[in-house]
Amino acid sequence: MAKSSSLLYLDGVSVSFDGFKALNELSLVIAPGEMRAIIGPNGAGKTTMMDVITGKTRPDSGEVFFDGTVDLTDEDEASIAELGIGRKFQKPTVFESHTIWDNLELALKAPRGPFATLFHVIAGAEKARIEELLELIRLGDKRDELAANLSHGQKQWLEIGMLLAQDPKLLLVDEPAAGMTDAETAETAELLKDIAKSHSVVVVEHDMTFIRALGVKVTCLAEGSVLAEGSLDHVSADERVVEVYLGR
Ligand code: ADP
Repeated sequence: MAKSSSLLYLDGVSVSFDGFKALNELSLVIAPGEMRAIIGPNGAGKTTMMDVITGKTRPDSGEVFFDGTVDLTDEDEASIAELGIGRKFQKPTVFESHTIWDNLELALKAPRGPFATLFHVIAGAEKARIEELLELIRLGDKRDELAANLSHGQKQWLEIGMLLAQDPKLLLVDEPAAGMTDAETAETAELLKDIAKSHSVVVVEHDMTFIRALGVKVTCLAEGSVLAEGSLDHVSADERVVEVYLGR
């Protein structure tokens, strides 16, 4: 896919830490509307890749473009978030002493700045958006409960809802199924599939049952580069992928 029609375009991206190449000529192209799963053994460079996309780490070389024309290597973390790249870290960070509704309302108002977050009274369209998000994240019947009372999995869903409240063009999700029960893991795959109907998503995950449930194209990283790419069946049948996972 051409850079101009891609949503996210990484080409030849390298990052070294004290001479160690965490990313080594990494190339990855995400199409608008696509959901992509990223797998790879520990140390493969998955986190560093997310850090490069979000501006936390600057690449030593290579291209990182968003929306076809925006050079992300020129932008800092805050402006990359404003451009519409939302990142969900592994550990959920919600406001525990606030209700589910208030968490979503705060997230919806946050881009307006701290003053509006305190004093802006939300109107019909914003309320309707929160209702929509509550249904999407499977917490419609828990809207008035404190976030502290949610299970680990439900907190993850709430945080995903809070990111969506800021209407990102691309959602980066780091190991959403980690620490979840099997039922929550299955529901999270359904949730991400629902989100992918209207958003582009890059999800890093180890849980192969979860990846299979997503049913999307998979990219396997190893030693900072793409080792294999395609359907999960194609990637998991690749001998090099089997080798890096088994450590042979
Ligand atoms: P993954 O997320 O796939 O487990 P990482 O991107 O976290 O991989 O790490 C890739 C490699 O880079 C690892 O060997 C890790 O030890 C190294 N690394 C990552 N961040 C740093 C850092 N800030 N300083 C030194 N080495 C780092």
